[in-house]
Amino acid sequence: MEHGIDRNLATSADRADYLVELSNIVRRTDFGGPAPRSLHRLGLVVDALVRLTGDRRVAVYCVADRSLLGGRREFTEPGDAPTLARWVAEGLVEEVPDADERVLEIAGMTGIQVVTGDYYDDHRIEHPWIQGNTWQFLRPEAAGRGAVRLAPLDMGHRTGAEISKKMELSALKKQGLLTAARKPLVEVVGRAWRCPDARCSLYSVHRGGRVMLPRMRGGVPTCELHGTPLLDDGARPGAAQVKLVLDGECVGRFT
Ligand SMILES: [Zn+2]
Repeated sequence: MEHGIDRNLATSADRADYLVELSNIVRRTDFGGPAPRSLHRLGLVVDALVRLTGDRRVAVYCVADRSLLGGRREFTEPGDAPTLARWVAEGLVEEVPDADERVLEIAGMTGIQVVTGDYYDDHRIEHPWIQGNTWQFLRPEAAGRGAVRLAPLDMGHRTGAEISKKMELSALKKQGLLTAARKPLVEVVGRAWRCPDARCSLYSVHRGGRVMLPRMRGGVPTCELHGTPLLDDGARPGAAQVKLVLDGECVGRFT
């Protein structure tokens, strides 16, 4: 790992020339070798930025999902996880529960360019400035001989329906409710659930109110609040659509 890139890591976004969505970059397997996660990819991105700007001290601010370091076994280079942990401890990488949200918050406020491969389809209601943006996002691409170049990402326009679909998928994914093929786990989503705590009505379809998505833990639907396995409450009643609500937003409807 290029420890030399430490000096290119900024401790705050306002000292940086570029924002890097580190979780996205570290996990891309279309450049920088086959490892599921690799910090070498950040080195390649910094090299590309040095070439792009002509500035060896070009500064990047990195934001990472907390889960990036959580999956440390996916780093095949033994030094990577300790290096990342040190960067987080030294404030060179900002670790947050949801990197997408933080990246877009900073980018929206400051107009800084973002290195990422993500189209953020599920965030376009909250961040309408992404629609049609052709300059603010840069995607790393393999440029031969192991190098990377950065290409402006045309974010395009997404329709309301496309955005809702992506929001629904991303809410399901957050709760562990997508299969490997990115399909909803119908055997969970299609059934009614209730918490063993009788006072807890977060999942009750009989109340007629909002219904939360169960969170899968170890393959078991669990209560978000109590952490206990939910009880199967039968097929979702009636033919009425069930609105799935997460964080106060309707994220999907299932019949
Ligand atoms: Zn509960």
